[in-house]
Amino acid sequence: MLQLIVLIPLILAADVGTAIGVYGFALPWLLPVFGLVNLPFVVGAFREFRLDLPTRRNHALEHATILYLEANSGRRFSGQAERNGFRVAGHASVKDIKAAFDRVRRVVQSGEHLSYISPRCGSNIVTALGFGLGLLLLVAIGTVLFHPPLPVRAGALIAVVLLFVGLRRGIGNVIQRRWFTAVDFETVYLRNVRPARQELYERGPVHFVETLVQPKSAAPSHSALARRGTN
Ligand SMILES: [Zn+2]
Repeated sequence: MLQLIVLIPLILAADVGTAIGVYGFALPWLLPVFGLVNLPFVVGAFREFRLDLPTRRNHALEHATILYLEANSGRRFSGQAERNGFRVAGHASVKDIKAAFDRVRRVVQSGEHLSYISPRCGSNIVTALGFGLGLLLLVAIGTVLFHPPLPVRAGALIAVVLLFVGLRRGIGNVIQRRWFTAVDFETVYLRNVRPARQELYERGPVHFVETLVQPKSAAPSHSALARRGTN
């Protein structure tokens, strides 16, 4: 499934290239059909990626942990967030994962800036797909409404490709930060790291990292209690 999501922007880009060269005249008809065929997929993918707050917090922790794992080993990892933790797929030992998570925990604890935005996140791929599709539909609608001459149509398509290439990453990161992750935690703890069964889409051994997250909103009573304790 994820492989398919990865491939579709490439197919999309190839289609645009072919369309400019060969199907210039058929574009007003091809694009809406193409858009309608893909629209349910994009909507479905967005729905699938819509996350609740605990999962969004673990999604940020998953990215941050993987960024440290990758910085230490030079290897690639993938992950999947859940409500009570996250999966890490790739060649790392329990000790490596514990060390990486501990770095994340210390950064959170000290209130430093935590790096957690990943351009390779599945949410970015879905965003890029939706963005590309939206741009193509705009051109299609403009073409149907205003019947511009072929050079204008071709120019618009080139502009769409340039906009797509130039902005997809930035837009993906903004949407990832706003809707797919959350870093409103006061403290984070590691409960457990254990081997997990490898799913079809995962590469390498898989571990499940069970976390305990204390969000900021729950913090005041806790710190007030702690203060009372010390006085
Ligand atoms: Zn992600």
